[in-house]
Amino acid sequence: MAKAARSACRDPGSVSLTAVSKNQDWSAVAPVLAEGQRVFGENRVQEAFSRWQGRREGLELRLIGPLQSNKAAEACAFFDVIETLDREKLARAIAGQRRIPRLLVQVNTGEEPQKAGVSPGDVDDFIALCRDMGLKIEGLMSIPPVGEPAGPHFALLARIAARNGLPELSMGMSNDFETAIAFGATSVRIGSALFGARSG
Ligand SMILES: *Cc1c(COP(=O)(O)O)cnc(C)c1O
Repeated sequence: MAKAARSACRDPGSVSLTAVSKNQDWSAVAPVLAEGQRVFGENRVQEAFSRWQGRREGLELRLIGPLQSNKAAEACAFFDVIETLDREKLARAIAGQRRIPRLLVQVNTGEEPQKAGVSPGDVDDFIALCRDMGLKIEGLMSIPPVGEPAGPHFALLARIAARNGLPELSMGMSNDFETAIAFGATSVRIGSALFGARSG
């Protein structure tokens, strides 16, 4: 990450690592925690509870998987950041909570029908709607389509963030984090490159 930041003429301190612990055995996660990593990403609410409840102190936990609005209360009570805000019903459910995590809007930059996220053409209106509800949006998240060069998707996400005045860009995974950093990622979500292949 530091090397990618330097080659993009960026301060290595401007990109943070979210360690994606989903589907990992505790034996893989424990050493990373012991080395001082404090930011972890999970894609399911229930799995995150069972892995982190009781050892949550001092950590930043980020939800990076789809969230059903009927689980908004649980997710808001537990996570520090929700990266997958992508529809009005969910925004309303979050806006009604007492504790509201930091929020990123997920953008479906490839407009893939099976993938979550707001489509690029609708995202400016969606961000405005969230702001009207009193939600503070910190940034954007995306997962580019598999098998396509990721660069144009990262560039698109960065443009949408810039025109909406959003500072945070969660983009880049094990296979494309260097590219994401070159295009301005402020956090990268790394699973397999850090922990090895997932068990589930
Ligand atoms: C699983 C997952 C990752 C991590 O993927 P790797 O390729 O293992 O680094 C990152 N972001 C999201 C949203 C994920 O679901």
